[in-house]
Amino acid sequence: PLPVVAIIGRPNVGKSTIVNRLAGGKDAIVHDQPGVTRDRTYRRAYWCDREFTVVDTGGLVFDDDTEFLPLIREQAMAALAEASAAIFVVDGQTGPTAGDEEIAEWLRTQKVPILLAVNKCESPDQGITQAVQFWELGLGEPYPVSGIHGNGTGELLDRLITYL
Ligand code: GDP
Ligand code: MG
Repeated sequence: PLPVVAIIGRPNVGKSTIVNRLAGGKDAIVHDQPGVTRDRTYRRAYWCDREFTVVDTGGLVFDDDTEFLPLIREQAMAALAEASAAIFVVDGQTGPTAGDEEIAEWLRTQKVPILLAVNKCESPDQGITQAVQFWELGLGEPYPVSGIHGNGTGELLDRLITYL
């Protein structure tokens, strides 16, 4: 079986966009509406000579108790349980939020290696400034990326495959 990489993070940070970029093709659902991907979606991906399965999740939400959120949280936790590594996606345009802090706090208690992807960093210069804000999450080096344009994903994947 291929190693599994879980993609987690708050709704609307760009998880599904990043999954599409890693996996290619067009079969994952990406919508502008937050929280659309409620179930886990499995896609085949590869980088260099490593092949892996990437799992999109609906997003971890700890501070909102609307009806479907416990289900989303459960899905994300299940995805992490079966993962060799995880990419925690945050939004470089908003900076760290209370929701990111809550998720990070939980992730720091997990044994799975976590890579921190700071998405929506289209400009290389701004990207560094956006990314450094996320050191405070205590998850190591923040990687500036743009799911839409592809910037930075090579560096992220180079690091990712060292864990697979
Ligand atoms: P998810 O809810 O975390 O899966 O987020 P989506 O992938 O559905 O993206 C949420 C919104 O962010 C959409 O409007 C995307 O077009 C936008 N988005 C995703 N990646 C990027 C990016 O790299 N740059 C910018 N500027 N917007 C992005
Ligand atoms: Mg999504």
